[in-house]
Amino acid sequence: MTWPEASKAASENGSTLVWPFGACEQHGPHLPLITDTFFAENILIKTLDRLPENMPIWMMPSQSIGFSPEHQAFPGTLSLSADVLLSMVTDVGQQIASMGFNRLVFFNAHGGQIGLLQAVSRQLRIQCPSIAVLPCFLWSGVPGLDQLLPEKEVEEGLHAALAETSLMLHMAGDLVRNDSYLEIKNVDKQIVTTPKGWSLEGASPCAWLTEDLSSSGVIGDASSSNSELGAALENALVDHWKSLFTSLLESDWPPIRSERPVSSS
Ligand SMILES: [Zn+2]
Repeated sequence: MTWPEASKAASENGSTLVWPFGACEQHGPHLPLITDTFFAENILIKTLDRLPENMPIWMMPSQSIGFSPEHQAFPGTLSLSADVLLSMVTDVGQQIASMGFNRLVFFNAHGGQIGLLQAVSRQLRIQCPSIAVLPCFLWSGVPGLDQLLPEKEVEEGLHAALAETSLMLHMAGDLVRNDSYLEIKNVDKQIVTTPKGWSLEGASPCAWLTEDLSSSGVIGDASSSNSELGAALENALVDHWKSLFTSLLESDWPPIRSERPVSSS
């Protein structure tokens, strides 16, 4: 895209930018550091390819270093501090809003920065009321995932386990170190027990560090990963995001704010 094209894009009705958000962090002994960035970028490309042409939606350059303090004990992991990431996203978001774009979607594939992107989205909404900000997570809300994945993976496969390994085997099998992931069959299958009523993720989470749970970096079980499952996961993800982007583009979100709320008393 050139600057005159960017200018024209920003002025289109419903102009929407999608910013792929990944990480540079350990993904076990078998998956590359760029796993989350690869998924965010490539699932987004496949999704946008399936939308009708001339829709007012464009992909931004990927953010390939994110917020990954939980993996910092493992070499290769790079992480920005929460403060730096918040400031960077705020700066870029404000510039996008002032160019005149109507919507900014964070297409995030790293679970450890969901909360942070939600917080900065709310801040941006207040600072730049003209732009809608939608922080989404690649794996959240995707119908059919619980039919494709065993319950144990859904509950405990937090990182570099069956889902991510299968998807990478399908999308870029040459990036998977086959021998090492098969060798970890009996390692790290047992997730540590959290105090009663507390969970790793979900209702009452524990802000775990990877080394609390795993010595290989895998959290869950990658040993039965296969590319057929990866193909089915890719289909489910692309179908889902195609449908969500279509409904967003067909909508007039965000609502125009006419007046400030007034007190009834
Ligand atoms: Zn990941």
